[in-house]
Amino acid sequence: MADIVLAALNAKYIHPAFGLRYLKANLGDLRDRTVLLEFDLNRRPVDIVEAILEHRPRIVGIGVYIWNATLATEVVQLLKTLRPALKVVLGGPEVSYETEQQPIAQCADHVICGEADLAFPRLARHLLEGQSPPHVLSAPLPALHEVALPYEEYTDEDLTHRILYVEASRGCPFSCEFCLSSLDIPVRTFPLQPFLAALQRLMDRGARHFKFVDRTFNLNLAVARAILEFLLHRHREGRFYHFEMIPDRLPHELREIIRQFPPGTLQFEVGIQTFNPEVAARISRRQNYARLEENLHWLREHTGVHIHADLIAGLPGESVESFAAGFDRLVALRPHEIQFGILKRLRGTPIVRHDAEWGMIYNPLPPYEILENRLIDFPTMQRLRRFSRYWDLVANSGHFLETAPLLWAPNRSPFYSFLEWSDWLFARARRTDAIALPRLAEWLFEYLTRVRTHDPHEVAATLARDFARGGHRDLPPSIRAYVCGPSPAAAAPGTAPPNTRRQALHSSRARSHSPASPARTTVSEPGTDKGDHA
Ligand code: SF4
Repeated sequence: MADIVLAALNAKYIHPAFGLRYLKANLGDLRDRTVLLEFDLNRRPVDIVEAILEHRPRIVGIGVYIWNATLATEVVQLLKTLRPALKVVLGGPEVSYETEQQPIAQCADHVICGEADLAFPRLARHLLEGQSPPHVLSAPLPALHEVALPYEEYTDEDLTHRILYVEASRGCPFSCEFCLSSLDIPVRTFPLQPFLAALQRLMDRGARHFKFVDRTFNLNLAVARAILEFLLHRHREGRFYHFEMIPDRLPHELREIIRQFPPGTLQFEVGIQTFNPEVAARISRRQNYARLEENLHWLREHTGVHIHADLIAGLPGESVESFAAGFDRLVALRPHEIQFGILKRLRGTPIVRHDAEWGMIYNPLPPYEILENRLIDFPTMQRLRRFSRYWDLVANSGHFLETAPLLWAPNRSPFYSFLEWSDWLFARARRTDAIALPRLAEWLFEYLTRVRTHDPHEVAATLARDFARGGHRDLPPSIRAYVCGPSPAAAAPGTAPPNTRRQALHSSRARSHSPASPARTTVSEPGTDKGDHA
């Protein structure tokens, strides 16, 4: 029995619910009357509802995000159908804007718009006392020194098996029109010493994988420096730290600390989104491209930081040609991963002001991706969407570190080369998910040798090295035959590979797409651990 159930519908098991842990931590004397239940998107709504109702709660709180809005709607409808007297309270970015138009909000008893850390406990107390608060409540921005930190809510299992979200600040001073964080002004910082003490406690308990969700970690140099120094001085092998950084701000004092971290322990996610200055100005995004490029060069040359860079296709006024030029420019900067995002129209964001002029048409259902605009028609946008998925499989996965660049060698445009491969692959596979690694290797081999006329022995040897590096023992026999060395005549470009039996496909469980566990043997739809562009 629990008076309050906080139900989290997470994108994947590895992503714990950060927001609901804040709510639980701030419930005061109600905390002991509360349970936090976590589910992932593979669970059936009726099973989720069963698990919730087993606790016979009086209040159920659910965080609604872009990745779980559909499932959450079904869960709320079932809850209210089965138990009309149960008070269902919603919060989260997805219901914080355009609230009244949403069926899920109409179904729920109460919706808290904005940061609910302190507003939810107040509301829960009123409900348990029998009061009748309004249907929609707008939470005032909490003073962060009054918010209890949620880190004790992480269980030992979380510490061992999941990414630990942490944050030193909230908000962003920039105003990129596609981004929810642009509405989050002003930037506020948690008191530093209690935050560092909480990190220390997590480390003492064995935490290893920290993801800072601060939207612009390097904005406040003094705080960024203090945190990095703290982590560096306590660093142990196996720990890993992820930060979202503004790419054009990396002064000397931060560089000196960053370069001291062992290779592979820091990951920086740097949002670039567009290299077209006109498009950037149109969406109110400010960035200094010269400094950005210099910083990325420096990181690649002088540090072991894993760089994850973001670009977005479909922005108003950005053509395929403009995006291609930006993509090629980014490939030349050699980030370890490029997240090729498709523009989403997130609720509440001002990007909608361009809809008429640029013919922006978005999917009305989550995750609200753009379907077409004046410069990119629907069939072309579909090609870009597939490019993005296949880029994850081939380039970002790390499975084909040496083989992937052969697609654009020598000296071809990475974008157009990969687009051709993407079109070819889709014609073969007719799908973008659940392609087993050996099968993908076979298709890569076939494409590179027959279409791009690379030497089969070289391609096979390159694939073999990639498989060996990733610890994969299942290089298909049809490729292995070339590594063992059939006669050059038999292996001439354009000739068919030996008629060997294809290795049976298998579909092992997809692993998390994270640098700490980069190997995936079967690739599913990309995870949606972020509800917004950053
Ligand atoms: S895209 Fe990044 S810099 Fe721009 S508003 Fe969002 S969080 Fe801030």
